[in-house]
Amino acid sequence: MADVVLYWLRNDLRLHDNEALAWAAAHGAAVLPVYCFDPRQFDRTAVGFPATGPFRARFLIESVADLRASLEELGSGLAVRVGVPEQVLPRLASECGAHLVVAQQEPAPADAAIEEDVRAELEADGRELRLFWGSTIVHRDDRSAAGAEDFRVRAPLSVPRAFPPLPNIARGRMPTLGDLALRAPEQDPRAALQPRGGEAAGFQRLVAWMWTGNALGAYADEPTPERPTTPDTSRLSPWLALGCLSPRFVHAQVLEYERRRVRNAGTRAFVAALLARDACRWAALDGRLPLLDIPAVGAGERRRLDAWRTGRTGLPFADAALRELRLTGWLGHDARRVVAHQLVHDLGLDWRLGAAWFASQLLDHDACISTAHWMAAAGLPDGPLAPEPRLDPLAAGRRLDPTGATIRRWLPRLAPLPDDAIHTPRPPQTPSGESTERTT
Ligand SMILES: Cc1cc2nc3c(=O)[nH]c(=O)nc-3n(C[C@H](O)[C@H](O)[C@H](O)COP(=O)(O)OP(=O)(O)OC[C@H]3O[C@@H](n4cnc5c(N)ncnc54)[C@H](O)[C@@H]3O)c2cc1C
Repeated sequence: MADVVLYWLRNDLRLHDNEALAWAAAHGAAVLPVYCFDPRQFDRTAVGFPATGPFRARFLIESVADLRASLEELGSGLAVRVGVPEQVLPRLASECGAHLVVAQQEPAPADAAIEEDVRAELEADGRELRLFWGSTIVHRDDRSAAGAEDFRVRAPLSVPRAFPPLPNIARGRMPTLGDLALRAPEQDPRAALQPRGGEAAGFQRLVAWMWTGNALGAYADEPTPERPTTPDTSRLSPWLALGCLSPRFVHAQVLEYERRRVRNAGTRAFVAALLARDACRWAALDGRLPLLDIPAVGAGERRRLDAWRTGRTGLPFADAALRELRLTGWLGHDARRVVAHQLVHDLGLDWRLGAAWFASQLLDHDACISTAHWMAAAGLPDGPLAPEPRLDPLAAGRRLDPTGATIRRWLPRLAPLPDDAIHTPRPPQTPSGESTERTT
């Protein structure tokens, strides 16, 4: 039994199926769970917008608050600090006499670098950082057996029934959006989903989509003339990205669904999506994903970037998608591809600028998945995914939004146009500043 254990929470904001948490609960005489709001994550990027925008920041705050409440129900709690982990954790470990810090290993290059800084600081002080795995369906240690058809998924771990007591340390106040220099986002009634952060809300979404809505079996359905759009995807990605939902738990639910309802192309395609997510993490672990350094931009590039991110490029479907992203924090997969190809190939901008905007705005930002897809859209041969041939955003828009419903929803001033003119490109507009960005 270790004495006092410090449990550093990262993208594993859950009680269920959590290796680091289960280990700490079983081995610590006292355990201090701690979450650090790292100010670097909320700085302004080199191109002027916040590294984390308000939708994702709010979702994160909700997720941490939900976990704090759950830990309190277990007789524990959560210390919260605003500060860089490599300074906060050694200080806290020293205050509470913890020689061991446990955490979930994060494969994204920026997170892995922080991990190494934390380890160095702790070891300089005679302390240890021990890392656990928990962000894929296939365990890191089972990887060699994993293949497209043949992979093993371990059973999810259960929630500990009780938790060791907290050492006597100030818990700290949850930061508000204002503390992070962000304003509360307006809730747009057109948003397809208005997700709330946290494990409980993640479970609710899973149940609503998979079980109540019975949507998993139709996941692979193609559009038909009667139903011209593809079925709704799960929209579980925001909870998966922060680890409010364990991917292994979601996979176990798929197996349960196959037992109780149906096993078909939809369930297989969904598992393939979860494996694609795993593959992005393996690419990071294998050193095949670069750190995202945002390049400097000149005035012309800045204008093109601003027109793109505010949805004023003149290409109606892409502009509608970019407005949906900025006003809700969400974008469907196909629309992500369209605007990514537009940025790289039509606007001639560096893919890292687009990736930085996605990182700022997307509720589900996941550095491994995002970098892999942006590199593929940019046609880079050394990325983990096959380089994609250029996608024509105009043709793709017509295919994805044949009736123009998406354009009319997000660009209502184009609504009166007849169907055969709705996709016609228009002259780009000049962005006139953040304060007038909101368009209805
Ligand atoms: C340019 C670009 C950037 C992207 N950035 C992100 C990102 O930051 N975070 C993110 O989670 N996804 C990202 N994706 C992948 C994909 O678009 C989203 O995972 C998906 O749209 C999330 O919706 P969903 O939860 O309804 O997915 P579903 O279709 O219901 O799939 C279930 C889960 O599988 C995973 N998944 C699905 N598709 C993929 C895929 N192609 N690659 C890897 N994992 C997948 C996700 O975790 C998803 O939640 C990006 C795609 C592109 C083209």
